[in-house]
Amino acid sequence: MPTYKEFHRRSLADRDAFWNEQAALIDWQTPFTSVLDYSNPPFAKWFVGGRTNICHNAVDRHLATRPDAKALVYISTETDQTGTYSFRELHREVNRFAAALKAQGVGRGDRVLIYMPMIAEAAFAMLACARIGAIHSVVFGGFAAASLATRVDDARPKVMITSDAGMRGGKPVPYKHLVDEAIRLSQHPPAKVIIVNRGLDPAMAVIAGRDLDYATLRAQHLDAEVPCEWLESSEPSYILYTSGTTGKPKGVQRDTGGYAVALTASMRHIFCLEPGDTMFTTSDIGWVVGHSYIVYGPLLNGTTTIMYEGLPIRPDPGIWWKIVSDYKVKTMFSSPTAIRVLKKQDPAYMKAYDISTLKYVFLAGEPLDEPTARWVSDSLGVAIIDNYWQTESGWPILSAQLGVQETPRKFGSPSFPVYGYDVQLLSEATAESVGPEEKGVLTIVPPLPPGCMTTIWGDDERFVRTYFSTFRNRMVYSTFDWATCDADGYYFVLGRTDDVINVAGHRLGTREIEEAVQAHSGIAEVAVVGVADPLKGQIPVAFAVVKDPARVATPELVAAMRKEVMDTVDRELGAIARPGAVHFVTVLPKTRSGKLLRRSIQALAEGRDPGDLTTIEDPSALEQIRNALAGR
Ligand code: AMP
Repeated sequence: MPTYKEFHRRSLADRDAFWNEQAALIDWQTPFTSVLDYSNPPFAKWFVGGRTNICHNAVDRHLATRPDAKALVYISTETDQTGTYSFRELHREVNRFAAALKAQGVGRGDRVLIYMPMIAEAAFAMLACARIGAIHSVVFGGFAAASLATRVDDARPKVMITSDAGMRGGKPVPYKHLVDEAIRLSQHPPAKVIIVNRGLDPAMAVIAGRDLDYATLRAQHLDAEVPCEWLESSEPSYILYTSGTTGKPKGVQRDTGGYAVALTASMRHIFCLEPGDTMFTTSDIGWVVGHSYIVYGPLLNGTTTIMYEGLPIRPDPGIWWKIVSDYKVKTMFSSPTAIRVLKKQDPAYMKAYDISTLKYVFLAGEPLDEPTARWVSDSLGVAIIDNYWQTESGWPILSAQLGVQETPRKFGSPSFPVYGYDVQLLSEATAESVGPEEKGVLTIVPPLPPGCMTTIWGDDERFVRTYFSTFRNRMVYSTFDWATCDADGYYFVLGRTDDVINVAGHRLGTREIEEAVQAHSGIAEVAVVGVADPLKGQIPVAFAVVKDPARVATPELVAAMRKEVMDTVDRELGAIARPGAVHFVTVLPKTRSGKLLRRSIQALAEGRDPGDLTTIEDPSALEQIRNALAGR
């Protein structure tokens, strides 16, 4: 076995041979003619000329060797349902869904927008798109109609797939209703909407001629056999929208061959899973972790995946450990916030089940603070693997790679650069590498490895401008995170270099939230900053200037206005972006050139020194922030 360092070195120094070997982990209908085409930097094309299909590799390929092995287990503590699908059964369901999509005229390169709760049909729909070469875009169910409409207009889907409703904490959450609303707001609405009706929303409206019931379609295609569309490796597999510093979300575009290879390889080298093992990822299909490690990664590898609809503490805080015990889970993937939620519960729940099959718990999406890491490590007695990555990368950038070498972990560190990634910490001022323990911008020297985003949907220029233009004289990919590396080679991620905040592992742009607040007609101006929160990592806090001071003249009016602002954010963006607090001021701290001093506001909100204020236009603005925070 090579050491992780040797493995990493070879992945960069002998790139073609390395990825050629990894590419053998999947089936190719037509072999590729070259491993990498990097003739047009920073656009990387992996496995050029090769033809493959992700659905074939995730489903059909396993029919020969393990048709009756469990592929997907669906567990809902919201509706008290479970369902188990073998690879054979999964194959049947995906063929039915694929046939239903084809019958609506969906084909190669067409977009399909999926807005669904965590039910098995959501995975069938994703795999069905992959099967027929359609490009799916899954939008997280927590996003409101207006956000959904923005994504519809950018992706221009031919069909949208939804459910009548989801369930959260025992209460139905409407989905189809939001789709109707989004379509009303959209400039480029889809021709058809397919609804998986769970019978949770009796009031659901059906629009004749546009809306189709999935159960009816499925019945029409029960025995359908839909051949896989063999795509050239670089053809897009999916788009996933993510937030940045501007108000407009970016459609992260992923390829086909590179993604299939990268994910399958990661299952072995990082997640230590073999075909037949079981993985339980607690994310949602609307996020990148859900795409990669609920749906594609496990299935590509022939590993059983568990899809869970429910909360970590319902019916009681032992539910995850019960699932681990019942299904003999070997690897779990979750988030630091979820672990912090469990940390507040009775520890007896963690001991109530036999979880001896569990070997690894991977945590990602936000910084894993040392006390939480220590607590979960002590409580479970299994390897806790902090891993760092982004929607853009699609799979870990920094992680221990225990499938390659058993290395000790340090609390607070996601360990080392993963094979394939040429990670460099660069000084913001000079673009030169920083020394040990020195803070630098975490960058990746291109080409980005297989599986990473290949461009921004419909906007190559924005891809280059956004990610590769941080340094004037060096074309490197910026993660927009600060990090240090210690003398042993362990990385420590320190936080974002931009105005993106991370709430419970979900990335939100402060500009996006500001725009949502400003949708309230009574608000003149607003600054939103991320403030440290013991549970969620960060929460958004808004400082708003109202147009008419009379609207916030009494405590009662202030309370009413606060609620209106929060409701506006719920409506415009979704409850995940709702500010934890809204404060009213008459002026915001800005520089003389009109730039918002967000970092100073954030520092005050976290009880820190606001820093250098020589450029501030109106010093009383900071006093107002202080007073607002103190409730004066
Ligand atoms: P997203 O694309 O929404 O998954 O957000 C990615 C961002 O989350 C990264 O750029 C980091 O700021 C943060 N992040 C993800 N994983 C970690 C981690 N293990 N430690 C610290 N920050 C992380």
